[in-house]
Amino acid sequence: MMNKAFAVTLDPATSLQNHTGSWRTLRPVNVFKLPPCNNQCPAGENIQQWLFYAAEGDYEHAWRILTEENPLPACMGRVCYHTCEGKCNRGFLDESVGINSVERFLGDYALEHNLSFKRPTRETGKKILIVGAGPAGIYCVLACPEWLPSMPVIF
Ligand code: SF4
Repeated sequence: MMNKAFAVTLDPATSLQNHTGSWRTLRPVNVFKLPPCNNQCPAGENIQQWLFYAAEGDYEHAWRILTEENPLPACMGRVCYHTCEGKCNRGFLDESVGINSVERFLGDYALEHNLSFKRPTRETGKKILIVGAGPAGIYCVLACPEWLPSMPVIF
């Protein structure tokens, strides 16, 4: 049984106890976090970005975004264990987005339409020798943009 009406149960200057008023102990902080699929992808692909363009039907743009991190989507779309899908939040609702399948599709699309990487706008005339034309060698070229003014030669 209350001794006094609710409206007068809060004594003045008790906002700290009552958790009311304008006081605070924390301030909001902007924290940059990757989506779980991006965070999981060993190639660090900007997955939600290229999925957006793929969903829009702009496959070339999607491929260009994808290949900024991974130059071999047709291969990775087949051999990768696609751990990104295991982290997809959509899986909590029904099933994960088929990221790996879309990646394979975009890689195949680029091959069928002869899409190629853009050449550097200026060239130094120097050459860089890369031994091995496997995924590591090809990735080497793209991972070092400061090399691109030179002409990489892959053996
Ligand atoms: S399937 Fe593609 S996006 Fe997913 S983890 Fe592998 S490389 Fe990354």
